[in-house]
Amino acid sequence: MSNEPARIRHHVQHRHPDDVRFCALCGSEMRLRPVLPDARQHKVCTGCGFVDFQGPKLAAGCAVADGGRVLLLRRGIAPALGKWTFPGGYVDLGETPQAAAAREVSEEVGLAVKLGGLLGLYADAAHPRVVVAVYMAEPGSGMPSTSEEASEVRYFAPAEIPWDEVAFATTKEGLRDWIARVTRS
Ligand SMILES: [Zn+2]
Repeated sequence: MSNEPARIRHHVQHRHPDDVRFCALCGSEMRLRPVLPDARQHKVCTGCGFVDFQGPKLAAGCAVADGGRVLLLRRGIAPALGKWTFPGGYVDLGETPQAAAAREVSEEVGLAVKLGGLLGLYADAAHPRVVVAVYMAEPGSGMPSTSEEASEVRYFAPAEIPWDEVAFATTKEGLRDWIARVTRS
């Protein structure tokens, strides 16, 4: 296998963590077993005893607001290609959610932001595999611009939000909360 940058293959990524078969530490087979103290079922290594506690992935993003309008990007990559969402992405291990939220805005739309407080934590109740932390933010230096991940970038007033073209259930929920905040202040 070459050392070239890898492209994400979503159909492969989505097999994790359910389809994990072998221990990441020693390579032995993993089997479902009840684990004490609460005897819930987890995959346990038959070799070294490592318990694979699977949890949701944490993502973070920003509701960047300017003059009562919120910045959304049109997704340039799968999933939800062509749909609108907040700039955001997965939090890397060793990174705070706040740092990840600001980094993703910079990477996706080329804008430095000043973070405010947490808008909310969101998970799609039908598939709660990802939890998204959305922070309030104000634009700092730079102008919003497109990237490989964002084919279009613009600010939307609450009445302009294209609800039928919003990417994820978590985006919709976050946008509703953002509107509730800006319209009551
Ligand atoms: Zn093991």
